[in-house]
Parts: sequence; structure tokens; C-alpha cells
Amino acid sequence: MLTNELLEFSKKYIMNTYNRFPVVFIKGRGTKVFDSDNREYLDFVAGIAVCNLGHCHPKVTVAFQKQAQRLVHISNLYHNEPQIKLAKLLVENSFAGKVFFCNSGAEANEAAIKLIRKYAKEKLKGNRYEIITMEKSFHGRTMATITATGQEKVQKGFEPLLPGFKYAPFNNIDAVKKAINKKTAAVMVEPIQGEGGVNIPDNDYLKKLRRLCNDEGILLVFDEVQTGMGRTGRLFAYEHYNIEPDIMTLAKALGNGVAIGAMLAKDSIAEAFTPGSHATTFGGNPLACSAANAALETIMEDGILFDNCLRMGDYLIKGLKELKKEHSFIKEIRGKGLLVGMELTIDGKDIVMECLKDGLLINCTMDKILRFLPPLIVTKEEIDSMLEIFYGVLKRIKK
Ligand SMILES: *Cc1c(COP(=O)(O)O)cnc(C)c1O
Repeated sequence: MLTNELLEFSKKYIMNTYNRFPVVFIKGRGTKVFDSDNREYLDFVAGIAVCNLGHCHPKVTVAFQKQAQRLVHISNLYHNEPQIKLAKLLVENSFAGKVFFCNSGAEANEAAIKLIRKYAKEKLKGNRYEIITMEKSFHGRTMATITATGQEKVQKGFEPLLPGFKYAPFNNIDAVKKAINKKTAAVMVEPIQGEGGVNIPDNDYLKKLRRLCNDEGILLVFDEVQTGMGRTGRLFAYEHYNIEPDIMTLAKALGNGVAIGAMLAKDSIAEAFTPGSHATTFGGNPLACSAANAALETIMEDGILFDNCLRMGDYLIKGLKELKKEHSFIKEIRGKGLLVGMELTIDGKDIVMECLKDGLLINCTMDKILRFLPPLIVTKEEIDSMLEIFYGVLKRIKK
């Protein structure tokens, strides 16, 4: 089909839930993607922090192909080897003792919310069920996770929301202290807020949260759906802060593009789930787990990947900071590893559109924050090309 035809059918047949850019992508390789007219783009979105190893990484592709010929799906009524292997890999490389597999970030957070409630009911004294989440957080689009998400714009129109959630401003320990009462069961937070605008907490914030949760005898839950799988230069972002959560959720880059989510917990907490507590048809199926195993093995064996992520992150931030000198509408540049944001004083939508026209994919979140999420394999040369395109665009839209 021709591009125009595709765009027309898309409008006609697909529910209107996204403001999509008028482009159809047909293939990708590493940091590059190609549209239906075979035009090449540098991808600094990576499917929103999903393709951390780049598009169609050969190790992931081969593992996936092989598994597709062996066994695609078998119910969780039975065991399957890729799922067991992946659980072992995740546990061996994290704080956790047990894993529950699902298919997305929202589902991983749903599972976490259910585990918190069940654990609190059975193991915590009193009637504790409330979960404190942060303003500007993002936890997904199901009813429980839009309630957890501290942003009115995702909740509006879907009321009544789920009971049992309270909100505190991010990076403000006193506000969390104030929000805790005898009903509080857990604090749930992204170590670095992604959709909320690449908000990086003070160095001691998460440590203080950990201490507070210990003192109160409540759970600390990290949503690492976006920050996990090497994005910030460590396998998990919590590793930067010398603390561990009680529960952690993963999705996005876990399968390098194949839909898979996971909720990890310490053994003593995971015990609250027993046969029948929670389930999903597709969660942890052999095909998705084969991709995730290949992705995780590649990330772990290729130690230089973390190193590259940190070095390229610094290089990108340095390049972007150079541009700040020339444009007064650039307010701040911040990031950790290759989760990088540029806060503007103006709307970022036009800039993203102009970049697209010039063959560069970037993202804009919270209207005014440009977000850069290239694959972790990105090279210095690719960042140079990206900066050159971006430089040209900023000059053109100069205000
Ligand atoms: C993307 C994201 C989610 C939701 O993941 P889905 O797979 O879209 O359901 C949840 N939490 C965070 C931090 C995210 O970035």
C-alpha cells in the first residue's frame, strides 16, 4: 500500500487514541529506522526506551526466530524453560527473590498493587491498603495504574478512580512523611520520572525514602519500567543509589521490543501470592521470554554497554548544553545515562515535527520537555549527526 493510503486507512480503522506523526515505519536496524518511502531516520526515541539494544538486534532476533519454530505459547498451567531461565537471570541480577511475568508496564504495576494489598492484609498490622505515589508520575493506563499515576490528564473522564491512593510531590521526603498514616501500605515511585519530564531526584532522596519505609514498616516499590534494563547506565536505576526496593516492576526494554513485563519482589513479600492469587494467559510465554533472555544476556555479557551508555549520555548532554548557550528558550538539560531531557520555555511539539522532517526521531513529554532515548549502543558519530540535525532545527525555529 502507498503511504497516503496507509495513513487514510489508519484514520478510518484505528481508534483515535494517539496523535501520531504522519509517517509509517517498515524496518529498523540498530539506531536507524526506515519509513514506507525507504527514508532513513536516526532513532532517538527507541520505541520510548524499549529497543535498548537497537532495532532488530541479531542475538534477540535469532533467539526469537528459533523459539518461534519450537514453541510459541503454552499456558501457565505448565512450566516452560525460557520463563524459568529468565526468572533465574532476573533474580540473580537483582535484589529480588521471585518474579511474576506479564505483558506490559501497566500490568506489572497492577500486579505490584495487588501484591501490596494482599501482603498488607496478611502481614502488616491494622488495616493498611493505601499506596502513596508521586505527582507527575506515570504508571500505566489501566484503571488502577491511572489512579496511581499522579497526573490529572490521564484520569480525567474515567472517574470514579480506585480508592486507596494518595499523592506527594516527587523528590520531597517531608511530603511523603506527611502523607503516611495508619492506613499506608506502600510508597510507589519511579527512581527517575520518565513521562513526567526526566525528573532526577536529589542523591539522597531514595535513600531517605528507604529509611522512612523501614521505620514505618511499609513497602517501597520502584517502577523501573522506563529506567530499567540499562537505560541509566546500570541494569536497574536503584543501583545508583545504594538501596534496594521491596518490589520492582519492569517492562519496556525487557524484551527489546517484544511485549513482556515483570514484577519482582523479595521472597518474604512474594509469599503473599499463592496459587490462584493472580494470573495472565500470555505472561511469560516462551516466545516473549526467549527474546528477553537474549536481550538480558546480551546486556550482561556486554559490560561495555553500560560504559557506552554512561559515556554517550555525558557526550549527548554536553552537546545539548552547548546549544543552550545560543537559545534562550532552552531552560535546562538533565539526564542519567541515556535517559535525557531538555526543558524548554516553549512548546516542544514543533521542534519534534521539524526533527522528523529532517530525519531525526525525538520525543516531547509534558508539552515542554524534549526527551532523548537512543539505543544504548548509540555511537559518538550518531550523536554528532543527531546534534547537527537538531542544531539546524533549533536555528530554524529560533524565537
Ligand atoms: C511506559 C511506562 C509504564 C506503562 O507501561 P505500558 O507497557 O505502556 O503499560 C509504566 N511505568 C512507567 C515508568 C513507564 O515509563
